[in-house]
Amino acid sequence: MIKEAIIPQSKSPCAQPGGGGPLTYEFDRSDFWRSIPAWRDIDPETFGDFRWQQRNSITSIQGIQKTLKELATPSLIADIEAGLLKTPMNLRLTPYIFSRIQWGNMENDPVRRQFLPLGSQFVPDHPHVMDDSLAEDSNKATPYLTHRYPDKALFLPITLCPVYCSFCTRSRVVGGSTAVKSKSTYGAKSTEWDATFDYIRNHPELEDIVISGGDALLLRPNQIRHIGTTLLEIPTVRRIRFATKGVAIMPMKFTSDKEWVEALDEVCQIGQKRMKEVALHTHFNTDREITEWTSRAMKSLSATGVRVRNQSVLISGVNDGFDCLHYTGKKLSSQLIQPYYVYLHDMVPGCEHLRTTVQKAEHLSRRLQGSIAGFNTPRVVCDAPGGGGKREISSYTLYDYEIGVSAWTSPTAKPGEIFYYYDPIHRLPQDGQALWANKAEISRRLANFKSEAEAKAEATRH
Ligand SMILES: *Cc1c(COP(=O)(O)O)cnc(C)c1O
Ligand code: SF4
Repeated sequence: MIKEAIIPQSKSPCAQPGGGGPLTYEFDRSDFWRSIPAWRDIDPETFGDFRWQQRNSITSIQGIQKTLKELATPSLIADIEAGLLKTPMNLRLTPYIFSRIQWGNMENDPVRRQFLPLGSQFVPDHPHVMDDSLAEDSNKATPYLTHRYPDKALFLPITLCPVYCSFCTRSRVVGGSTAVKSKSTYGAKSTEWDATFDYIRNHPELEDIVISGGDALLLRPNQIRHIGTTLLEIPTVRRIRFATKGVAIMPMKFTSDKEWVEALDEVCQIGQKRMKEVALHTHFNTDREITEWTSRAMKSLSATGVRVRNQSVLISGVNDGFDCLHYTGKKLSSQLIQPYYVYLHDMVPGCEHLRTTVQKAEHLSRRLQGSIAGFNTPRVVCDAPGGGGKREISSYTLYDYEIGVSAWTSPTAKPGEIFYYYDPIHRLPQDGQALWANKAEISRRLANFKSEAEAKAEATRH
């Protein structure tokens, strides 16, 4: 398949002007939340208290109206209402992230786009989207543990988050039910974790444990301690990581919730004594999420010795431009947050408007390489739908960019299988879009593609 890079040069809204000179990192120190009508009189001390952030989180249309007051135009409210009828995710924004939105340009705002769905921006789902795109449920070793790779596993002790992202890959379980999706969410039930700890104990090949969810920020301090110490006491576990979006959406948690930070600190001390790594994986997507509050959070976290890394999702109209990824990566690095992954958007329902193509992701990956210190250069990956695991973006077996389908193999996670990723149809070249509109044509083309991919995978198998 001939593949010529014809890359639309979209300027990301979070882009910092390039030019090759030294970058400057400015951290918003202003009382930016005071531009939100309901928070005009909120002082920094109140805003900096995680309890106030939790109590004042926005979880409904009424909440938006009460908070934005005159800024909430009837057309904006109607558009959000329409969005909420289509999204599988609940509405939840902390005041911190809510006030990072520039309401004057709300439609194109990269922060708004991540958390507040507008009905007018939805695009029909791709026919191949899957609720559980990464096949996490079918790789369950215990009700709380996904064991896919030989030496690492994913522990999901909670399905609640302090914010809900429109593009969540676990929309099938995370948050509460919505108009289009019913789910059975769970809070943290520590009494039910023993079988998971036993499984990890009985599988000494498991060296890395990811504690994700949901969000570890909502684990209580004693739960952080319990999970951290239990895992670090297992001789064969070498590294653990807590996944939380907290640093990006509620940085004041790490300066005002002393107990939580102390619990993490204790876990880090145990790790240090045993020569084991304790890390925190967070989730910034644009530099707009980084402020002076981030710096303060990182000073507090650095004192514990925890290693902090960042995983982003590549989102159309949010961070799908080189300048944005580059500047965000450099700015995070300046705060000791190591850019780790940029994920191609997973093929889950209700967020087609946020996905982009493999071609675009490959282009960005090529640009990023060499533009930041190697250890701070994120790996751009596709988490192969169906459980193939994370694969380097250019490592596909075959790619037909016209109809937007790529084939992937995964010799470590699932030897012998082929996985297919489909680009969003509305971003394909005109000819490709026309093919998808014709059922017989697209079936024929896909069948050809699949047999070519199988032959190629067979030929390169060792
Ligand atoms: C991402 C992931 C891991 C961790 O993989 P790394 O590449 O080490 O970050 C482990 N298990 C599952 C199921 C995952 O999806
Ligand atoms: S914080 Fe993570 S788990 Fe929670 S909604 Fe966002 S993407 Fe999903």
